[in-house]
Amino acid sequence: IMRLTIIGGGPGGYTAAFAAAKAGVDVTLVERAQLGGTCLHTGCIPTKTLRSSADALETVARLKEFGIAGDCSVAPDMPAVVARKRKVTATLQQGLEKTAARLGVRVVRGEGRLVNAGLVRVASADGEQEIVGDRAILATGSSPLQLPSLPTDHRLILSSDDALELQAVPEHLLIVGGGVIGCELAFIYRAFGAKVTIVEGQGRLLPLPSVDGEISRLLLREMKKRGIAVELSRTVSRVIPGEGGATVEIAPFPAGTGEVRTLPASAVCVTVGRVPNTAGLAEAGVALDPRGWVVVDETLETSVPGVYAIGDVTGPQRIMLAHMAVAEAHTAVHNILHPDNRKAQSYAVVPSAIFTAPEIGDVGLTEEQAQGRAVRTAVFQLRELGKAQAMGALAGLFKIVVEEDTGKLLGVHIAGAHASDIIAEAALALQKGCTARELFETIHAHPTLSEGVYEAAGMLV
Ligand code: FAD
Repeated sequence: IMRLTIIGGGPGGYTAAFAAAKAGVDVTLVERAQLGGTCLHTGCIPTKTLRSSADALETVARLKEFGIAGDCSVAPDMPAVVARKRKVTATLQQGLEKTAARLGVRVVRGEGRLVNAGLVRVASADGEQEIVGDRAILATGSSPLQLPSLPTDHRLILSSDDALELQAVPEHLLIVGGGVIGCELAFIYRAFGAKVTIVEGQGRLLPLPSVDGEISRLLLREMKKRGIAVELSRTVSRVIPGEGGATVEIAPFPAGTGEVRTLPASAVCVTVGRVPNTAGLAEAGVALDPRGWVVVDETLETSVPGVYAIGDVTGPQRIMLAHMAVAEAHTAVHNILHPDNRKAQSYAVVPSAIFTAPEIGDVGLTEEQAQGRAVRTAVFQLRELGKAQAMGALAGLFKIVVEEDTGKLLGVHIAGAHASDIIAEAALALQKGCTARELFETIHAHPTLSEGVYEAAGMLV
């Protein structure tokens, strides 16, 4: 029987463990904290749980608009919000532990250190143990990037981890970084009643190649409508602690292109990026790129034969999302089990979901990325849909990019309620190489928000 040791029990690591165990492999899963990783404890699930509390508040605030009479005075009870989040996380963690036990995956608690494909040393409070195996998978994920100029103290200067555990809503929350995490937290804490300011160094929100420029501008408008202040092309140059908070200096970015201003803040949340968890890997001979991410070939094998790496630890080039870690887990396990028939991991069709208000779902190329190719684009406004009017959810659009001559889908970009769910259809269509006509000829149930995909496709037929 093959023995596989996996370091890291996040979505990458536990998916690989379960898949390998189902295939009859003897699996040891090493985790220094809890099964579930960033995704379950400080990422996807906690943010969406807090988002659901924010949604509940926003719905109550709009009751009159829906013809519901009566006075409701509502406010977030942060200890209860956080307790609910912990309960959701604990339920899912127990599910993972049960599955591990059922499949016979040996879970070892402690800090794993790779020696080679056949040996992992695990250090824990009980001492050190050696795990001998045949193959290893590194799935150690990533941690919040600390800025030397803004070291997190977990009170005044927070990481995204801290922002998920606040026992009170800060009066004025200043968020450094207008990426996915910063924008999601901005909408959540604005709904909870905080004054929110986002400071972003780039000239737009969500400065990711996968996010359409028009959708980024739509998000900026929605933030302004809600009273979220956005400072683009600016950076926090200094935080001067004071009574009950701090004075924050905001400087132009790049430097020297305008005046420095100050803002009061009761908390500063730093969401400027992630760093890989790679302690000890270089000593084991695992090649890292100049930024420290683990280098893998197209089969996900590292520079050490028999050692694979999956998930966030392989860096932003390979898309740092939970479902990407899951897909890579299946590829790595396949390649370990079938050495003569190894597969390359594809990154061509990877949907992404951003839980702002409205949500954003995207897959494939943006118009900007398709520049230089002969393409056609259609945009359909969400507010034209009956379901959007019925729901009172009007902000949003559906954008489809197709190859000019064939009509083959290249990208689908959606902003609007439930965009994160609707994007699944587009991902399947792209994966299967469908044309706009094929999408248009697929009957979509009425009245639903998915009709936006059908309508936008119809504009290209
Ligand atoms: P991780 O989930 O980071 O797991 C790594 C595990 O390895 C951890 O449990 C860690 O304790 C353990 N570990 C590390 N080093 C060692 C060691 N030496 N020994 C033993 N154990 C070790 N992605 C989405 O797809 N959708 C979202 O909505 C989303 N929202 C997010 C929101 C936030 C605030 C953040 C921070 C991230 C979000 N992400 C989201 C990203 C997602 O969480 C990650 O892409 C995903 O968790 C990566 O999975 P992974 O298995 O590679 O690593």
